[in-house]
Amino acid sequence: MNTDATIEGGSNARTRWNRPLPRNVEPGSKFSKLTVLARASNDKAGRVRLQCQCHCGEVCIARLSDLRSGHTKSCGCRRKFAAQYRYLTLKRRGGYSALGPSDGGSNVKASTKLVLGCAYCPKVSFLKAATFLKGKRICGCLEETYSSYRNMIQRIDTEKHPEYALYGGRGIKICKEWREDFHTFVSDMGPRKPGTSLDRRDPDGDYCRENCRWATAQMQAQNRRRSKGRVRVGSV
Ligand SMILES: [Zn+2]
Ligand SMILES: [Zn+2]
Repeated sequence: MNTDATIEGGSNARTRWNRPLPRNVEPGSKFSKLTVLARASNDKAGRVRLQCQCHCGEVCIARLSDLRSGHTKSCGCRRKFAAQYRYLTLKRRGGYSALGPSDGGSNVKASTKLVLGCAYCPKVSFLKAATFLKGKRICGCLEETYSSYRNMIQRIDTEKHPEYALYGGRGIKICKEWREDFHTFVSDMGPRKPGTSLDRRDPDGDYCRENCRWATAQMQAQNRRRSKGRVRVGSV
């Protein structure tokens, strides 16, 4: 099943450079993703092996018979890719769900274009599988949400931010899950609603799911009044 499974040796295997290449094979001959560099030592059964360079850059040793039969097609990187992409369909990354390859097939490679559904709006997008897996691309419907997220981080981390003193400067933190991943923030908070901004229920508490909500200016003013009252009560 796995056609890349039989590569032996690897770049450290002993190679014998002085042997002539077999007939019809020369440096530069291509077998799928592999380009022949030189003759390598025969295997234990006396079969011819070649040193090849894979399209990924890796150098490996492969049996000529396996190259000719198509049994060996790459240094093994194709197999790694295949494992990574096999279960891609319906996976979620970056707020997108992969619905399947755009050509309607079932074979997914790094370069396959996928049809993606946004988890937050009805928009359908197309993205290469490799880009999708990186999870960095976000749907246009999350732009506002992302700008709130970035602002939150700047208030906490950037000393030059005009409001730093009120946030990072007085020890307010962002929970680890949010800091590490914008999409955890979105799945906890949902996309930002028009007319709202990110608000902490307890103004002395951190940025985390339990303490945050999207609130209008009015809701935030009420919250400030209430929490001032609470401070007074507590300090009596
Ligand atoms: Zn490779
Ligand atoms: Zn969207």
